[in-house]
Amino acid sequence: MAEILESKNFIHAFIEEDIAEGGQFAGQTVHTRFPPEPNGYLHIGHCKALTIDFGTALKFGGICNLRMDDTNPAKEDTEYVEAIQEDIHWLGFDWGDRFFYGSDYFEKTYEYAEELIQKGLAYVCELTPEQFKEYRGDLTHPAVSPYRNRPMEESLDLFRRMRAGEFPDNKYTLRAKIDLTSGNFNMRDPVLYRIRHVEHHRQGTKWCIYPMYDFAHPIQDALEGITHSLCSLEFENHRPLYNWVVEHVSVPHHPPQIEFARLGIDHTVLSKRKLRQLVEEGRVSGWDDPRMPTLCGLRRRGYTPASIRNFCERIGVAKTPNTVEYAFLEHCLRDDLNETATRVMAVIDPVKLTVTNYPEGQTETFQVENNPVNPDAGTRPVTFSRELWIERQDFMEEKVGKFFRLFPGNEVRLKGAYVVKCTGCVKDEAGNVVEVLCTYDPDSRGGDPADGRKVKSTIHWVDAENCRDAEVRLYDNLFDDPDPDAAGKDFLACLNPNSLEIRQGCKVEASLAHTQPADRFQFLRQGYFCADSKDSSPDHLVFNRAVSLKDSYKPGK
Ligand code: ATP
Ligand code: MG
Repeated sequence: MAEILESKNFIHAFIEEDIAEGGQFAGQTVHTRFPPEPNGYLHIGHCKALTIDFGTALKFGGICNLRMDDTNPAKEDTEYVEAIQEDIHWLGFDWGDRFFYGSDYFEKTYEYAEELIQKGLAYVCELTPEQFKEYRGDLTHPAVSPYRNRPMEESLDLFRRMRAGEFPDNKYTLRAKIDLTSGNFNMRDPVLYRIRHVEHHRQGTKWCIYPMYDFAHPIQDALEGITHSLCSLEFENHRPLYNWVVEHVSVPHHPPQIEFARLGIDHTVLSKRKLRQLVEEGRVSGWDDPRMPTLCGLRRRGYTPASIRNFCERIGVAKTPNTVEYAFLEHCLRDDLNETATRVMAVIDPVKLTVTNYPEGQTETFQVENNPVNPDAGTRPVTFSRELWIERQDFMEEKVGKFFRLFPGNEVRLKGAYVVKCTGCVKDEAGNVVEVLCTYDPDSRGGDPADGRKVKSTIHWVDAENCRDAEVRLYDNLFDDPDPDAAGKDFLACLNPNSLEIRQGCKVEASLAHTQPADRFQFLRQGYFCADSKDSSPDHLVFNRAVSLKDSYKPGK
């Protein structure tokens, strides 16, 4: 763990050095941005970017813009815009009044394109998309661009007519005149604008030419006065083009682009396209299915903002791509819920336990601790009577192996109440155990026998006279293959058919009757659970298992 905690955030180091050495940004407010494309919900990978963008601004007393990257007209949706805002706020970050759309800069971007044409740095090309590919060249051959020397006036006229809608899709493109021999193919006269007669979700039919991301993004950053354009590693090869754009158009700022490695997590996919496919094909119940690595899915599952932020801090920021274990995300959740979640008793696979020497009709109340690791969490009353529920697996008619719980003749402690001794069981005609029988030791009130004898096991229980029924949803990895996101792999074939198990008729202690959506608990011995924010109600309690108690994360693995 130490190595993770101490991993250096090279972005912070870069900014610190720059300031210390009186560099480009000394004396300036650090100004970052988070630029999601509103074509899906945010996932845990975006949380890494969010933590870097907003976190860097926070660390240096700066500001961070939220900018919807809606440059590409086809796929955007206001549903996503609202969900992205909600998720970022939930995580605890705020952009203040600095909320923007990339499309707000279309007019400016167009002007800069004309500027490049007028400077002789861009030209209208009429290669078809197929020809464009064919003429791209390779490492030993430069690209070929037959329209490169089109006179400036002609390009300007064609470009204006492209905007006016005179031409069909793909008839012309606007290309930057950079370097047809460059070893970086992004610099081989990249396309800046293309014709697409598509309606834009905010601009309507105003535009039929749209800028490419590589041209639009640096301009947007520069116009917003971004001081550090932080992005993931796949843009590294695009950095020379980013710099070329801000240097050659008359923008007011020249932000540097700094790349960091994308987050990958095992047993899941982190691509909006794949996540959307899971939703659209009904493989999951929606973007907020508790098995999804989306923020809304993790939230519904029971993840807290603190646990996710902590996870993102602890995985660090580096330049080398790495895959983090899902188990580490779970580890971070346990760390948080261990401090904050109320301990309660719930029986997921119930069988009746009758305390035969306990008077019928009698009930007594125990005060139990809400959270032993948090002394301020207080206590709550739990009732005890003759009939209780226990887990079916805490009883064995015949002891096998190292089983120290209930079997005839053995004693166990009922958590916080009494020591009981198993005396037998009742079976139905099919031979199934329908009731376990025991006697209690009245001199063990609170759980320990007065005579000091040792009782090995403690089990949880629920008072059958005073409890609630509940539905419990037990989740496992959505994919049983550790790397479903690998290139070329059929990720749908990697789905875990047992990722959701629904248990009805579970018994939970009465204190859970007034559970509010999203309340989180530790069910003793079972894990951390969260009331389902969509389906749980006082009439039908539904709990999602956020994470089991067993920690499979091994530091330093
Ligand atoms: P996806 O492949 O899921 O569609 P994307 O990069 O196209 O991801 P954007 O909405 O463009 O999605 O992402 C917004 C920001 O989040 C970008 O700066 C991007 O670099 C960053 N980001 C996306 N996925 C990850 C990830 N797995 N790890 C770190 N940063 C990410
Ligand atoms: Mg993107």
